Amino acid sequence: MIDRRQFLLAAAAAPVALAAPVEDLWGGPVIDIHAHTRSDANGNATHCDGAGISHAILLTRANQLDNAKAAQAAHPGRFHISASTRLTDPNAAADLTKAVKDGAIAFGELKDPVQADGPELQRLYALAGELDVPIMVHFQEVPNSPEGVFFANGIKNLPKMLEKYPKTKFVAHANSTWGNITAVNNVNTDYPTGKIVPGGLTDKMLGDYANLYADLSANSGQNALSRDPEFTTGFLERHQDKLLYGSDCPCRDGKGQGRDTGRLIGKCLSRETLSIVKKQASPAVFRKIAWENTHRVYKIKA
Ligand SMILES: [Zn+2]
Ligand SMILES: [Zn+2]
Repeated sequence: MIDRRQFLLAAAAAPVALAAPVEDLWGGPVIDIHAHTRSDANGNATHCDGAGISHAILLTRANQLDNAKAAQAAHPGRFHISASTRLTDPNAAADLTKAVKDGAIAFGELKDPVQADGPELQRLYALAGELDVPIMVHFQEVPNSPEGVFFANGIKNLPKMLEKYPKTKFVAHANSTWGNITAVNNVNTDYPTGKIVPGGLTDKMLGDYANLYADLSANSGQNALSRDPEFTTGFLERHQDKLLYGSDCPCRDGKGQGRDTGRLIGKCLSRETLSIVKKQASPAVFRKIAWENTHRVYKIKA
């Protein structure tokens, strides 16, 4: 709860009209687990409003905390905070612990050039388990990436981590998560297309480990769900309790404005991914993925 003084400060910093109800584009409420905190005061609300998203978890570095808190103050109950930091920062564990004490409900996204089973992530897997908050990690392998860039390299080692930290709720995100939806991963491209070969690592891990969840956000999630529609319906059905809707969309208005490079130019990723889930899952499964699962996993009261 914010007090009156904080509210007035936030309101002065970010003058906004009283929020109108979000247009119901999806037949019910939607929570986005992957919304980066925006620098403009009303940016997150504008994006959500345009895409028909009622609630969002703001991925927030310490230097963005004021913006995230202003968004919360302007729209009570709409936004939650997930705390992010640099994995190489020696204070990472202390800073994330403090953030959770101050109200953050998760860690992430964590995106740095470390190993998926390296010491930087392992200490935070353990800490997330102790604090009982989900931890979202960006997995992207060397061969998938231009210029040898990688993040949480070695997703093949994730099963060992899931076993070693059974109390920890892992939320897997990004290229390697979704490249491995198929058993034959074309590692030479970021967004492999074509038929999915059943038995991919991600499909298998979601089935085998109760403490693994997957974030549908970003180009990688949208690509995985769109490349083989015949496969998608079964995948959504099979992992209906493990998939979490997220956007990671950089467009400004929730309708594609400002998305002028890369895939899906002129389109809002939030809408693109929600459209696929809406079309290919039953209404009950859609509601789980867009709303219920996140409330359970992130312990948010509806
Ligand atoms: Zn990411
Ligand atoms: Zn968008």
